[in-house]
Amino acid sequence: MPATSRRRLSPTPRRILDILESAAPGAVRSRASDRLAMAHDASHYLLTPEAVVTPTGADQVGALLRASSAHRLSLTFRSGGTSLSGQSSTGHILVDTRRNFRELGVLDDGNKVRVQPGVTVRQANARLAVYGRKLGPDPASEAACTVGGVVANNSSGMACGTVNNTYSTLESLVLVLPSGTVLDTGASDADSKLRQLEPEIHDGLLRLRDRVRGNAESQRIINKLFVIKNTMGYGLNAFLDFDSPADILAHLAVGSEGTLAFIAEATSAPSR
Ligand SMILES: Cc1cc2nc3c(=O)[nH]c(=O)nc-3n(C[C@H](O)[C@H](O)[C@H](O)COP(=O)(O)OP(=O)(O)OC[C@H]3O[C@@H](n4cnc5c(N)ncnc54)[C@H](O)[C@@H]3O)c2cc1C
Repeated sequence: MPATSRRRLSPTPRRILDILESAAPGAVRSRASDRLAMAHDASHYLLTPEAVVTPTGADQVGALLRASSAHRLSLTFRSGGTSLSGQSSTGHILVDTRRNFRELGVLDDGNKVRVQPGVTVRQANARLAVYGRKLGPDPASEAACTVGGVVANNSSGMACGTVNNTYSTLESLVLVLPSGTVLDTGASDADSKLRQLEPEIHDGLLRLRDRVRGNAESQRIINKLFVIKNTMGYGLNAFLDFDSPADILAHLAVGSEGTLAFIAEATSAPSR
C-alpha cells in the first residue's frame, strides 16, 4: 500500500468548506471517499484533494474563482482526468468540470460545433459523424478525454499535425476569467467588453502583443517553435496571428492548463 494511502486524512477546515459552499451551494463534497476517488489522474502522482466541487455552470465557476482569489485558495480543474503529468490532480481544491458541462450543438450543417468542456472527444465525433466531420485534435485517449482538457492541454494525436490542431481549428471560446467575468470571445462586442470589464488584462495583452511584434528575435523564436508541432505551454503565436486582445486571449488559452481561465465552451471548425 503506498505511504500516501496509509496517511490519516486530515479533515478540511470548516472555514474552507463554508467559503466553497457559499460560492457553489450544494456542489461541495469532502468525505474521504469523494476525495480519494479523485486523488489520481492518469499520471503516477497521488494527491488527495481537500474537497471536490462539482459546479453546475459557468456562474458557479466564476463564484469559485472569485472566492479562491479573495481567500487565497488553490483550485485545480479536472475534466476527463486523463492527463499524464498530474495536471488534473491536486492536494487542494479540485473542481470537477466534466459532470455538468455536457452540451453540444452542431451548427451550419456541420461546419461548426459548439461544445461544452465535459463532452468527450468520442461523444463529439459521434455527433459530427453524420455530417462527415470530426474534431481536429485526435488524442488516443478520445474515449475518456474531454474538449476542456484537449483545449487546456493542447492535446493532439497522430494525424492532426499543425493544420487540424486546436489552435488552427478554434473559432472562439467562452472563458470565465479569474475575477468571474464571463467573456464570449466570438461575440461582436468581445473586445470592448474585455476592455471595459478587465482593463488590466486588455491593456496587458496589447502591451505584450506590441512588445513581441516589436522584437525581431521574439518573432523569430515564436515562428520557429510554432511552425512545427509544438504542444508546450500557452499559444504564444497568438501575439503574431491575432490583433484583438479577445482573440489573442482565446488562442493563448490553448495549452494553458487551466491557469488563465475556465473554458466554458469552445466553438471550432471540425475537419473532414
Ligand atoms: C491512454 C492515454 C492516451 C493518451 N493519448 C494522448 C494523445 O494521443 N495525445 C495527447 O496530446 N494526449 C494524450 N493523452 C493525454 C490526455 O489524455 C490528453 O491531454 C487529454 O486531452 C486530457 O483531457 P482530459 O479531459 O482528461 O483533461 P484533464 O486531464 O482532466 O485536464 C487537463 C488539463 O486541463 C485543465 N482543464 C480541464 N478542463 C478545463 C476547462 N474546462 N477549463 C480550463 N482548464 C481545464 C486541467 O486543470 C488540466 O490542467 C493520453 C492519455 C492517456 C491516458
